[in-house]
Amino acid sequence: MSVLVTGGAGYIGSHTAVELLNAGKDIVIIDDFSNSKPEVLENIKKITGKDFKFYEMDYADREKLEKVFEENNIDSVMNFAGFKAVGESTKKPIEYYINNVSGALVLFDTMRKYNVKKFVFSSSATVYGPENPIPYKEDMPVGTASSPYGSTKIFIEQILKDIYKADNEWSVALLRYFNPIGSHESGLLGEEPQGIPNNLMPYIVRVACGQLKELSVFGGDYDTPDGTCIRDYLHVVDLAKGHIKALDKLNEGNGVYIYNLGTGVGYSVLDVVNTFMKATGKDVPYRITERRAGDLPAFYADATKAEKELGWKAEKSLEDMCRDSWHYIEVSRKNG
Ligand code: UDP
Repeated sequence: MSVLVTGGAGYIGSHTAVELLNAGKDIVIIDDFSNSKPEVLENIKKITGKDFKFYEMDYADREKLEKVFEENNIDSVMNFAGFKAVGESTKKPIEYYINNVSGALVLFDTMRKYNVKKFVFSSSATVYGPENPIPYKEDMPVGTASSPYGSTKIFIEQILKDIYKADNEWSVALLRYFNPIGSHESGLLGEEPQGIPNNLMPYIVRVACGQLKELSVFGGDYDTPDGTCIRDYLHVVDLAKGHIKALDKLNEGNGVYIYNLGTGVGYSVLDVVNTFMKATGKDVPYRITERRAGDLPAFYADATKAEKELGWKAEKSLEDMCRDSWHYIEVSRKNG
């Protein structure tokens, strides 16, 4: 029995692939390398000492996807092949809806055809929207999305709930990620956005290695202790481990299970910058600039449900996250 991992060469997909292999699961990865590199697959093998089957393809290619299901004994699916750049999604909504929503529908339809009904969905804290008070809890109503990216998460959550309503042999986990940063401790896997990074940690790392001059801290006048936005950053390896626990849950019984994957602790942008400098000894020049449109002042998870029901708790500190993000860059530079 294998777990199909779409987008398994990407940032979160590759870290989850490692944890699945470490947990003794067989996996099949598909990826089209649209936002990742083939070397990642070798690095997953290097870290785990394990092999897996790989298909280079778009996950939404129905014909090829059917072949994957025919050639392998797949019993569950994790989908990391979604587009994830919030800003880009506002400029390319059609591309985002096609890839994230239509692609997911092709995947669900194919799963149904091959009678595979266990699915772990990479959702996001963005589904809570500006309406909900913090900390966010899973039983709060879904809010308003601030971007097409966020809408794709809300839509797919709803689609999965409807699928389960129609056929309760499905077992679905909706994992609402907070802000994953960090890298595998080996330095062999990490986040490598193309072009100028949009997210905080990839930007900090580029400033620290001198590729970018300074970090713009988007807004210093929020109603927070230091005036900068607060987020719930969690280590990507902790996040990856949450997927294994969620999969175990799906194997216990059918249903739709919703979990926040966060630490439950909020840090400001300046907390992250200062912790990064302390953990790495690198300087990160920054300047407070205008607020970024669409940013909420503060949000973090109530992370108690995942702990109670999955036995999952984020273990790594903000310092670990900063150190490992930097270590990945050092190792990548050394390996050319
Ligand atoms: N941020 C920043 N400068 C940057 C990128 C991000 O000040 O160059 C801030 C952003 O305003 C937010 C936090 O860092 O408060 C996290 O942003 P990110 O884009 O990483 O994640 P988001 O929470 O928006 O999904």
